[in-house]
Amino acid sequence: MRSKAFWLIVLAVAILAGIISCMSSNTSGHSGTNTTPVPILPDIYDNEDVDGYLYQDMPYLEPWDEYETTPEPTPDPGLLDMQSDTVFVAGRYAGFFTWGHFHHSAVDEPVVFAESTVLDTYTDVDLDISDIIDMEQLELVFALLAEAILAYAPESAPFLFRINENWLTNMVIDHEGLRVLLTPDIAPWDLGFFSVLISYEDLGEAFLLEVELGLREPPRLPMVALTFDDGPHFYTDIILDILEEHGGRATFCVLGYRIHYRPNTVIRAVNLGHEVVGHSWDHSDLTRLNANAISNQITRTSAAIEEVTGVRPPPIFRAPFGLTNTRVINVSRDLGYSLLHWSVDPQDWANRDVDHIYNHIMDRAMDGAIILLHDIHTTTAEAMKLVIPRLIEEGFQLVTASELIAYFYGETEPGEIYMGHRPPWF
Ligand code: ZN
Repeated sequence: MRSKAFWLIVLAVAILAGIISCMSSNTSGHSGTNTTPVPILPDIYDNEDVDGYLYQDMPYLEPWDEYETTPEPTPDPGLLDMQSDTVFVAGRYAGFFTWGHFHHSAVDEPVVFAESTVLDTYTDVDLDISDIIDMEQLELVFALLAEAILAYAPESAPFLFRINENWLTNMVIDHEGLRVLLTPDIAPWDLGFFSVLISYEDLGEAFLLEVELGLREPPRLPMVALTFDDGPHFYTDIILDILEEHGGRATFCVLGYRIHYRPNTVIRAVNLGHEVVGHSWDHSDLTRLNANAISNQITRTSAAIEEVTGVRPPPIFRAPFGLTNTRVINVSRDLGYSLLHWSVDPQDWANRDVDHIYNHIMDRAMDGAIILLHDIHTTTAEAMKLVIPRLIEEGFQLVTASELIAYFYGETEPGEIYMGHRPPWF
């Protein structure tokens, strides 16, 4: 039997549950009128892949102010002073030098380093000192080295008794002889880095590669012929200055009528070893002339060049506009002349654009190229200030058109047109 109090408690709980249930149904009734779904935002710390990133992998970042209050000391990067040199000998042997020093605040003295390699490019083998020098004759090599060092630095005399094999650690074969690089740790008389040359002649049979290599014959450099039309002009002299400064020869295709305006320019060109040939008397289109007139244009110009310079020009000429026909070719053949065309044309007369001229030539420069230019424009002269040293830097030799033709085509054939080489991709 349950007590009356028990049933009272059951009734009270039931009433309370009814009230709560009524309240909650009111609440759900109210929210049921709102149809907008509540967006569920990703929790970036719950290992979800959001935008491709696993936030779990994000490093824990320090607050910025912590960095600001304890700045990292700037590390001392040290000072590196490094130089290098390369020499290529007999078309086969490549010598590399690297030297310099590295100074770090953590050490008192700079670290000195020097490295050299002589590579046989035929066999791809690094040569050892015993491949280059007859080790039986080291005493001779030491004596020659001492002599060369003494000539370079007389103050070295007290140290030269120390010469040993280590002093030959850094050497390359150069065009004229064996070049030995001396570093401050080997040669301690305060000259820094320097190199001395021991000639192949002095080394004699102590130098093992000589006979095999024919080292005194430098490899033939690729050839380019720069040709300048329509002068002589003020800019001819500027181009002559540039060629004089950097070395190299060129061909000037002059107009006969202009020679007496600037005879000294023509004389200077010839005296500097350049080639001066004709480009007609007055820039007439030769294809529109009769045989007599064509002949006159060619021979009168050559005679004027010879009269001023005392040198008979080679039997080659450049036709105005490069225009020829059978008549022009036949007259040339009869006169013993051949025609000089070109393989690279930067259109310097039309664009007058230094960058264009430079890029056009440098993109197409190749062994055997004949380049057409005009020494009557300031932009052409300006471009030559860049082109001429750059071609030489890239290993080209600047030759006259006749030299280039002689090398690639042999003796000039009368009536023949010579164009030179152009890269196949242009
Ligand atoms: Zn011309």
